[in-house]
Amino acid sequence: MAQPREVLERERQETLRRLATLTDDFAEVVAASRDSNADDEHDPEGATIAFERSQLDALANQARDHLSEIDAAIARLDDGTYGVCEGCGQPISDARLKARPVARACITCASVS
Ligand SMILES: [Zn+2]
Repeated sequence: MAQPREVLERERQETLRRLATLTDDFAEVVAASRDSNADDEHDPEGATIAFERSQLDALANQARDHLSEIDAAIARLDDGTYGVCEGCGQPISDARLKARPVARACITCASVS
């Protein structure tokens, strides 16, 4: 199994890249909406742009949330609490950490909350 730090660093890079792409897309959509005469609220194109913006916004927020989870997991690696369940203090199984490297709780505690 790869070291958790490597896995987390790789995931961090991927998430940052995804966020950069989303931010670029977002800037393009905003620029496009400024170019077109989107001041007409009944303009169907304006509605599409608004929808696209909210979709991109949601995805970017998801990526940002994930990034903070990764950072928190890396911080736990640094202080030696990584892989220890926040709920019951027992070690989180390797299988779970492999599937979800940012997991803070074991599967039992995670399914309760
Ligand atoms: Zn637990």
